[in-house]
Amino acid sequence: MEKKFRKIGVLTSGGDAPGMNCVIKAVTCAAIDMGVEVVGILGGYSGLINDRIRPLSKLDVADIVARGGTFLYSDRCDEFKTEEGMQKAIATCKKHNIDGIIAIGGDGTFRGATDLSIRGVPCIGVSGTIDNDITATDITVGYDTAMNSVLALGDRLRDTCESHCRCNVIEVMGRHAGYIAIETGLALNAIGVAINEFPFDKEAMYKRMKASQKAGQRSFIVVVAEGLGAEFSEGLVKEIEENTGIETRFVRPAHIVRGGIPTLADRNFAARSGYKAVELLLQGVSDVVICSRHGEIVPVEIKYALIVDRMYKGKLKEYDLDGFSDKQIAEMEALCAERRKYFTDMYKIVNSICC
Ligand code: ADP
Repeated sequence: MEKKFRKIGVLTSGGDAPGMNCVIKAVTCAAIDMGVEVVGILGGYSGLINDRIRPLSKLDVADIVARGGTFLYSDRCDEFKTEEGMQKAIATCKKHNIDGIIAIGGDGTFRGATDLSIRGVPCIGVSGTIDNDITATDITVGYDTAMNSVLALGDRLRDTCESHCRCNVIEVMGRHAGYIAIETGLALNAIGVAINEFPFDKEAMYKRMKASQKAGQRSFIVVVAEGLGAEFSEGLVKEIEENTGIETRFVRPAHIVRGGIPTLADRNFAARSGYKAVELLLQGVSDVVICSRHGEIVPVEIKYALIVDRMYKGKLKEYDLDGFSDKQIAEMEALCAERRKYFTDMYKIVNSICC
């Protein structure tokens, strides 16, 4: 291998997610193993702008895999979106001889990684978001842990609902995506799951609740995605009571499910993604995000990943597809159809078997 890369940087940016530390660990150890120095950039892109850099050794990261959050800290940095901020970031890279960067975060972080790549600092993105809202990848680092945290909380609520003959509405994170809600709804035997992706039939849910209650069911769980808004989820409590007569409580675990010990699935996906990111960066690949497709770890051009997201959300702009081949556009459409089918299938199962 031609040794173009002597030193790389790693940073975490945007909302934190359990498993980010496992990516940092994998990146650091893989790069050192491949003969490249590693520095941590503290506090995401603002750390890059403000020159907050620390060297990383294998020992520094040896024990971080079981810790949630990010030991490199995270931040949201508007200055980085300006040309002036971008130039300060590039100057920091020059000062420390940082030849490339692995940026861990969500779609905003990847936009930043593209901007840096275009300006001559090769970057590769690795997902770190509990929301799983990146269409190009089947899963994101943090998603599995967050779902399991909701599951543990939901199981506890079930116990107390059962004792007191109650219903509990749980509002879960996920921004505008309903992945956490639909998956945990199914796993928790939720009588209703309300998400942005599908119209929610309240009347049908009340009917199911009344039928279950008549058959002897004492406890009910309803999962609502935060994307529907606080008014919707909090309002649903009163509506359930009015329409079914069942005493109903409300819980918003919010950031509680953003923390915690990463699951095995998240740790190992993080490790594989981090390793792949380093391998590709040192081969001269940049401006891609590491994705999982049907179990395989693959790089996807960041521009492609951002556009397929927009396509999935129905927000394509006039010239968005310029520069993509017919084959790529067909692939994007198939990916969006796959996601929609997933929600259709999951919704059907939840409504059929949850009681
Ligand atoms: P996430 O990465 O979780 O989606 P944000 O959307 O807050 O979180 O983005 C994280 C950071 O990435 C921002 O604070 C900013 O520094 C950078 N960023 C976001 N959008 C852009 C953009 N269009 N150009 C350059 N940098 C961006």
